[in-house]
Amino acid sequence: MKVLYVSILACYPILSMIEALKKGLTRIKFFHFAIFVVLLPCQIESFGIVEKEIAVFKPRPFEMSEEENRKATMSQMKRLIELWREMTPEAFDVVRHAMLMYDRATSMRFYVHVTLFCETLRTQGTKEQVEEILNKAERGEIFGCFAMTELCHSSFLRGIETEATYDSSKEEFELNSTTLGATKWWIGGAGQTATHAVVLANLIPSVGGPVWFVVQLRDVTTGSLMPGVDAGHLGPKAGRDGLDSGWIRFSKVRVSKASLLSRFLSIETKRIDGNLRKDENSQSSKIITTFSSMPKSQHLAYNTLIGERLQALSEAASSAAQASSIATRYAIVRRQGPRNPQIIDFKVQYTTLLPIICTSMVVTTVHSKLFPSWNQLVMDGNTTPDLVSDWHSTAACLKSLWTWWSMESIEKARRSMGGHAFSSFNAITGIWGDSGVLTTGGGDNYVLSQQCSSYIIKSYMTSGANKKKKKLFGKSLSYLADASRYKTFGLDWPLEKKDVNAWTLPETRDLLNQLLKAWRAAIVFMIDAIVVAHSLHQNWNEQMNELIELSNFHAFQLSLEVMIEVLDAADAKVQPILSDILLLHSLHHATQSERSNVFLEHNVFTPTQFTQLKKHCQEMAKKMRKNAALLVDAFAFPDFVLKSPLARFDGNIYEPYFEMVKRANTEKVAPYWASEIATALGAIKTRAKL
Ligand SMILES: Cc1cc2nc3c(=O)[nH]c(=O)nc-3n(C[C@H](O)[C@H](O)[C@H](O)COP(=O)(O)OP(=O)(O)OC[C@H]3O[C@@H](n4cnc5c(N)ncnc54)[C@H](O)[C@@H]3O)c2cc1C
Repeated sequence: MKVLYVSILACYPILSMIEALKKGLTRIKFFHFAIFVVLLPCQIESFGIVEKEIAVFKPRPFEMSEEENRKATMSQMKRLIELWREMTPEAFDVVRHAMLMYDRATSMRFYVHVTLFCETLRTQGTKEQVEEILNKAERGEIFGCFAMTELCHSSFLRGIETEATYDSSKEEFELNSTTLGATKWWIGGAGQTATHAVVLANLIPSVGGPVWFVVQLRDVTTGSLMPGVDAGHLGPKAGRDGLDSGWIRFSKVRVSKASLLSRFLSIETKRIDGNLRKDENSQSSKIITTFSSMPKSQHLAYNTLIGERLQALSEAASSAAQASSIATRYAIVRRQGPRNPQIIDFKVQYTTLLPIICTSMVVTTVHSKLFPSWNQLVMDGNTTPDLVSDWHSTAACLKSLWTWWSMESIEKARRSMGGHAFSSFNAITGIWGDSGVLTTGGGDNYVLSQQCSSYIIKSYMTSGANKKKKKLFGKSLSYLADASRYKTFGLDWPLEKKDVNAWTLPETRDLLNQLLKAWRAAIVFMIDAIVVAHSLHQNWNEQMNELIELSNFHAFQLSLEVMIEVLDAADAKVQPILSDILLLHSLHHATQSERSNVFLEHNVFTPTQFTQLKKHCQEMAKKMRKNAALLVDAFAFPDFVLKSPLARFDGNIYEPYFEMVKRANTEKVAPYWASEIATALGAIKTRAKL
């Protein structure tokens, strides 16, 4: 065991080790490190940087007024921008991820500027057009926001009502919020911070769809709104209050022709004398300008969206990991019942929490495998329209499934803690409030999952289940070329085996393979049912729930496929731990999730097989319960990131909790005793009664 331990440590950066030891992680063991090295590298070091560099600026949101909160968040963002400039992109990415886990409001404020604003400029503008403004944004000399959504429109973007009318005599556009519904809404940073915005508007004359403009909102020195611009913030939200989400209206706002981000537009200017020429900067008034879109290059515009949606996996996983870490540590210390057991030994506790922990590890790993592959494609300039369609569908279904799962898991973790989780001091309600936006922002999940299933159905119908046409399927759908084989699937595994503790690695590995086939079989049956329903003249809306479920199934099997590759490539000594994690994850989603019934509906499992698999799932959770503390230690969230006294690493939970409560409550007599309580009691007569 000693040799093994050393070999694992050798893979791990020594600095992180030292940091870990300094932080008193005395429970470090081989088991912990096996998971840590393979699935969750780099976290401790990056938390150290966040603690040293950034965290000092901010207490908890509910301990501050809205103004103090926004101010503190802004000072953290200022430091993040400095680090962004100082560090290498790779090193900064790790810090940024740690920051996300520490403070989601600051992270979103930073994300709106750096990703939504800057990336839209980069992808939609020509290099010459945006170079200057991008440089300023990167130096933090201006702050940007992303103004797409309107009060009455978002998922269906063609419905937006903001207008940009071209005035050829002045070579300018005039922006107008034509109706109340056209008010830009939910715009992160627009409430107080943003000096500039990328704004989605309908061009008049039309190019067949909305286009992007870059518009100045505020004076950089005074913060006053520019002429014709009106804006404000939206007030308290479910979470991330440190971000100033806002609204914007435009009234006859004049912007130059160059403000139209025109990378995917063809702009042609015709002189009165009839010569046709490209002319971006002509000052002549005797010209006619025509705008048209260049659809062939449009796929490049999806590059940013795909990356963002893949990034949402990591955020979804870490939110669920934090919530399950808090709930698990509490469940280990908390005792309740006549024999005073640890509450984690109640079956409902360990069968709830352990699958969340395992799936958090799975989703983290899927992100860490897929996001760099996609990034590399983009950086190498190798994104063809077909590849983009395939990745678009992949990112859409993964983002939908795992952000939905994350929200459900946070709520389950809260419920498993009883009353104390209801206190804001214990952080879970804060994680829940901050994370809900993930299912909506970056594309609403219901809309995204239908985009994925539309891609699946169209590919299936055009390619058929014909093996010779395998090449016609995108990479993520290549398994559908074997559809006929999956239709004859029958689970072939000795389920009557009694004790999960005695299963060998090859047996576990084989069961995982069978489960992957079962997910694929279910997908093929679902597609067939949808295709038949369509042929009976049912419209899309009639099939919507099944289409959304199809996307979820596809996302699950994609994740399992990635994880089986990770398992096979892992060090042989690590494989038993990883296979247990993966098996509990797979059995749980197959038998205990809201989508389990599909396996019975399509006879993928017989009722007896289903019951046995469910039983094995519960046994597996019990087996892993023994290592529950080590599993959550492997996430390596320091106490200052978890922010919950009930999840303290040292297990001393009640004293710090009571201390926090007492600190927040120093007044021994209510400030409104005399005016309200005493008068209600009749102890002090009100003026009216005198
Ligand atoms: C905290 C936060 C920050 C945000 N930041 C920004 C920002 O910085 N910039 C920005 O532009 N926007 C931002 N948004 C807006 C966000 O992008 C939109 O909320 C999102 O796109 C969904 O649009 P909507 O709210 O208009 O919902 P709608 O499009 O009106 O949808 C409402 C509901 O109707 C259903 N629905 C709609 N269409 C379909 C369909 N085709 N099939 C099935 N069901 C459907 C879904 O259940 C959906 O949830 C933010 C939102 C939040 C909450």
